[in-house]
Amino acid sequence: MVFDAIIVGGGAAGFFTAIQIATLRPELKVLILERGKEVLTKVKISGGGRCNVTHAEFVPNELVKAYPRGEKELKGPFHAFCSGDMVAFFEERGVPLKIEEDGRMFPESDSSQSIIDCFLNETEHLGVKINTNCSVKSITKTEQKGASWQLETQQGDFYCNYLAIATGSNPKMWNQLKMLGHTIVSPVPSLFTFNIKDKRINGLMGVASHAEVKLFDKNHTSIKLEDGKKAMASGPLLITHWGMSGPAILKLSAWGARELHQLNYQFVVQVNWLPQYDEEEILLVIEQAKTSEAKKIVFNTRPFDLPKRLWFRLLEASGIHQQQKWAEVGKQAIRKLIQELTAAKFLVNGKSTFKEEFVTAGGVDLKEINFRTYESKVYKNLFLAGEVLNIDAVTGGYNFQNAWTGGYMVAQAIAENTSI
Ligand SMILES: Cc1cc2nc3c(=O)[nH]c(=O)nc-3n(C[C@H](O)[C@H](O)[C@H](O)COP(=O)(O)OP(=O)(O)OC[C@H]3O[C@@H](n4cnc5c(N)ncnc54)[C@H](O)[C@@H]3O)c2cc1C
Repeated sequence: MVFDAIIVGGGAAGFFTAIQIATLRPELKVLILERGKEVLTKVKISGGGRCNVTHAEFVPNELVKAYPRGEKELKGPFHAFCSGDMVAFFEERGVPLKIEEDGRMFPESDSSQSIIDCFLNETEHLGVKINTNCSVKSITKTEQKGASWQLETQQGDFYCNYLAIATGSNPKMWNQLKMLGHTIVSPVPSLFTFNIKDKRINGLMGVASHAEVKLFDKNHTSIKLEDGKKAMASGPLLITHWGMSGPAILKLSAWGARELHQLNYQFVVQVNWLPQYDEEEILLVIEQAKTSEAKKIVFNTRPFDLPKRLWFRLLEASGIHQQQKWAEVGKQAIRKLIQELTAAKFLVNGKSTFKEEFVTAGGVDLKEINFRTYESKVYKNLFLAGEVLNIDAVTGGYNFQNAWTGGYMVAQAIAENTSI
């Protein structure tokens, strides 16, 4: 039961770490310990069963922008192993990927099983041992059996020189790591949709438009993020039965995850439905409509590229009635219309889960990790990768990329270590 390297957690980060170590140093004895009866269970259900493995953003300094937590720390690691390297990894092993319009990358088979089969073939061929139904109960430093670490499990004690923790968002393991001296940033949900009851969007489910969104508290004070930046995002916004969803909202939920948790999910979202224009341009378009369409009914014209039903609601909210002609629209209504178009505020009362897909913001404090090696600064020979760290991203394949890059970096560090 003595191994050179043990990886705790048979998920995305754990498998990629093991495969990389065994590829770089085939002579090492490598073991994965997985508490469940199956491995790679999240990979299986991810992306609606299709597994959104990475994102077609191949420039490290751009890729990092998708990570509300980890942006600074991932810059170096992405220069060592980025999304393009992961595409190459799969292609070299007969699993071609495809890029969807929004940049998400999936296996061409549209089945997460292709990814699982690829990993299982690799571990078998490389001789990586996998023990399932084997939950690690405790981790202790040791000098017994020439090892550095002792792991207690229901299958007995395991020993190793190098220990990699890839247990995802698992509270029990976070407690273990706390006992070892690590700081855990408390977990809060990320990637959720906003619950809104407002007559401007009531009944408009399915309507989508490109928008820019910003967060305010209930007193209409702009919410600032930990790094002092304003909480804002842009992209398609989808009106749902319960409120608002779509990439713009999901991104905003990720950036504001910690602040919105503190506000108990009672806050205000401001929507700019026309981010491509500035206010003066909007006023110009409206004034042009007032002149050229003066005798036409406002509801029968649409000077902006907005979904018809949404345009009607914004006109109503501005006090413009259904028979009113452009010539009859006064200054006050125009001011209100510009406000509804560019800075419409909606009261949010709670959150909903996005397609069962959620990510946790929180985990091992990034200050305690050396991002050249992913080694703990608290203990030598202890490495951490994947969601166990306080790193998370918006949707789009970025969360898996964090797992792949972390696994690669851990493996490089272990393989390069000359003491084995
Ligand atoms: C429904 C859903 C869909 C998703 N879809 C996508 C997607 O398409 N693209 C994307 O990028 N991200 C997606 N994500 C996020 C992504 O799945 C995670 O970011 C990723 O799985 C994290 O990998 P990990 O290896 O760090 O953790 P995990 O994949 O969670 O693996 C951790 C493993 O460790 C095991 N473990 C925990 N504690 C112990 C212990 N004490 N002893 C032994 N084993 C232990 C667990 O059983 C688990 O198998 C999705 C998430 C969900 C919930």
